[in-house]
Amino acid sequence: MKTYAEWQHLSRTLTFNGQAYINGKFQPPQRGEYFPSVNPATEEHLADIAACDETDIDLAVQAASTAFQNGEWSNAAPKQRKQVLLKLADLIEAHQEELALTDTLDMGKPISEMMSIDLPDTIDCFRWTAECIDKVYGEIAPTGPDTLALIKREPVGVVGAITPWNYPLMMIAWKIAPALAAGNSVVLKPSEKASLSAIRLAQLASEAGIPAGVLNVVPGSGQTAGKALALHKDVQVLAFTGSTAVAALLMQYAGQSNMKRVWLEAGGKSPNLIFADCTDIEAAATSAAAAIFSNQGEVCIACSRVYVEKKIKAPFLEALLKAAEHFQPGDPLNPSTTMGPMVDRAQLATVERYIESARNEGGNLLMGGASDYLPGNGFYATPTIVSDATNDMTFVKDEIFGPVLAVGEFETEEEAIALANDSAYGLGAAVWTGNLSRAHRVSDKLQCGMVWVNTWGEGDTTVPFGGVKASGNGRDKSLHALDKYTDLKNVLIRL
Ligand code: NAD
Repeated sequence: MKTYAEWQHLSRTLTFNGQAYINGKFQPPQRGEYFPSVNPATEEHLADIAACDETDIDLAVQAASTAFQNGEWSNAAPKQRKQVLLKLADLIEAHQEELALTDTLDMGKPISEMMSIDLPDTIDCFRWTAECIDKVYGEIAPTGPDTLALIKREPVGVVGAITPWNYPLMMIAWKIAPALAAGNSVVLKPSEKASLSAIRLAQLASEAGIPAGVLNVVPGSGQTAGKALALHKDVQVLAFTGSTAVAALLMQYAGQSNMKRVWLEAGGKSPNLIFADCTDIEAAATSAAAAIFSNQGEVCIACSRVYVEKKIKAPFLEALLKAAEHFQPGDPLNPSTTMGPMVDRAQLATVERYIESARNEGGNLLMGGASDYLPGNGFYATPTIVSDATNDMTFVKDEIFGPVLAVGEFETEEEAIALANDSAYGLGAAVWTGNLSRAHRVSDKLQCGMVWVNTWGEGDTTVPFGGVKASGNGRDKSLHALDKYTDLKNVLIRL
């Protein structure tokens, strides 16, 4: 791992291309408009990004559709697509420092997290998915002796992917690796707050051998480029990660256009249940701090609600406050930094607003509070812990997407489950207990897509990621991700 000085040096030498990438080449936006990308740690201008609109989206979809129809990728043997995607994984690995630095400069995540989480996960996602694709079989249905019914998986055509800024490259990998592996063409609209790594990835994909038009990247605002992609009638599947509010809009756009299938990975307000029978209060507290303060709390699966059993509340809070000290905002280029700035001024203002509302609604501020933002110094928030939190408080109900932890309490297992499930969201949940039966019992009753027992946030490319309720539908990662990007066709032959 490079030193602070080395990362600083590398950041001064890096140059960026902010153009769209359509049909295998860089392309300026048709209307010639650009918007700035700003480094949230310094507020310095990084690059000008193409502000694509309906015309650019249409060009990209046409390129994707033509590429799909010509069959060079969609009709290639799975083994052949595997080789190209493995090459892409190798290229990402060879350029991992550049890509990690790009996302850090673009959205503020500590470089150490980029190098230890985002890049390894991205590379693994491409490699694992590539390796799977020539091992997925069709089926023969048990119809009886007079007919032969084949169930085949086919690529859907053009996949539109719309992604967020909090794990820019990794969220893109989770969508496009299975979509490409299955033989689809992709039009990707990355977040306007972190587009640079997506554009670079498209270039690397061409270098790896992905044919022109199969992966197109069209940066721009959600309201213009994102909406145009979601409304486009030649897009068959829309794969989205982002907020619940935008997810709901995409379902409407699908209905207004061609009933495209919409897969949604949306927001969260995940609970963390700490039972008195947990075997290690300190471990639970250390994990609870990481579950809200890592990546500045800009994590969909952040456990932003902790409920602790009343009889261990005092020692748990003491351990939690100590563990939280590990997270100090600092320059994300310094490998020892544990928390970077918020992505922009608006996100910092949201955090400040919720801290104010927590105070006004009777929360007990144990740590942190308002930031002391000065223009030009970066959008740094302070790790904040509020106890005496109850589920009727606004900051306990809403996803804040920042380093603000609500701590409430419970007395019985039933109460803990009820508090955890009392949320519009259902992404993840953590349970800390030394009792195996309780771990199973509670996990089964939690309304969410992922449960972590005596840990938080752990996953693997082999296991599905996603939620229920307002947290979305469909799953990224694992073989189940392929379901989103394939159609089942049944061919029945009378014998
Ligand atoms: P966002 O919803 O504001 O934006 C996500 C994407 O949607 C961006 O590319 C944006 O440009 C686009 N968009 C915005 N308005 C649009 C519109 N009208 N039509 C089409 N596209 C539009 O979310 P964000 O701020 O980028 O990301 C944070 C959110 O993402 C949080 O809610 C977080 O929980 C969620 N998230 C979820 C997961 C998951 O797997 N469930 C993972 C990461 C982040």
